[in-house]
Amino acid sequence: MKKILQIGIAILCCFLITGCTQDEASAPPKKEPVPKINTTPKQEEIVPTKTGTDVNPETLKIPVLMYHSINTNVKNNLITPPDEFDAQMKWLKDNNYHTITLAELDELLLTGKNVPDKPIVITFDDGYQDNYTNAYPILKKYDLKANIFVITDKIAKNNHFDEAALKEMSDYGIEMDSHTVHHQELNTLTYTEQLKELKDSKAVLEKLTGKPVNSICYPVGRHNEDTERAAKAAGYAMGFTTAAGKANKNDGMYTLPRVRMVPGISMQAALQ
Ligand SMILES: [Zn+2]
Repeated sequence: MKKILQIGIAILCCFLITGCTQDEASAPPKKEPVPKINTTPKQEEIVPTKTGTDVNPETLKIPVLMYHSINTNVKNNLITPPDEFDAQMKWLKDNNYHTITLAELDELLLTGKNVPDKPIVITFDDGYQDNYTNAYPILKKYDLKANIFVITDKIAKNNHFDEAALKEMSDYGIEMDSHTVHHQELNTLTYTEQLKELKDSKAVLEKLTGKPVNSICYPVGRHNEDTERAAKAAGYAMGFTTAAGKANKNDGMYTLPRVRMVPGISMQAALQ
């Protein structure tokens, strides 16, 4: 009896399996998933536009202008009157100079590749309010690029521009770089203290602008071997002093000189 039951169940199972198979065979074929066609056009390969010539980097010298305040109240040689600044910027434009940013300078100095005609960098130290109110409109008027070395602890304090101005200028294309947190003479600090000044100021600026900060300018131009090591360790590509001269990679990428702009000087004389 038990055996008969087992055979019966076996036959029933066979029937069910066969039935299922037949059902599947007669069912309309399952649709193959249609591969999604990417409708976005194939991106054109980006070929960098050739805007300049290749130059031997050993001999390439690029002026990095050093301004501080742009103000009518000229009480020391760190202040250039706005009309004089305007005339200097106009002279650069009229004489076919090409302003580049410090982010661009780094690669040009190292490789000498694709160097624009008459390259020049405009920098401002300290982050004064008048950089925003006086210099920025003139830079926009002549469509010139520039960099500002910001003392991060001074933002919005004591005649220094605030975060909103910093953000607006950065969004426009004026690059923000570091002039440390507290503007202390770095050569008086330990390596660890220097590293903190360099790292913290970089982090504050990168957070505010959302852009990388690749340069540091040493307060009052003071620096020592620890400063150069710290600048490298903090992730900077270049360090600037107040020593006079046009920048060449053999000056050392962490001890690059600049061209000091004092009131009354003509751009022609400054660039000689
Ligand atoms: Zn300074």
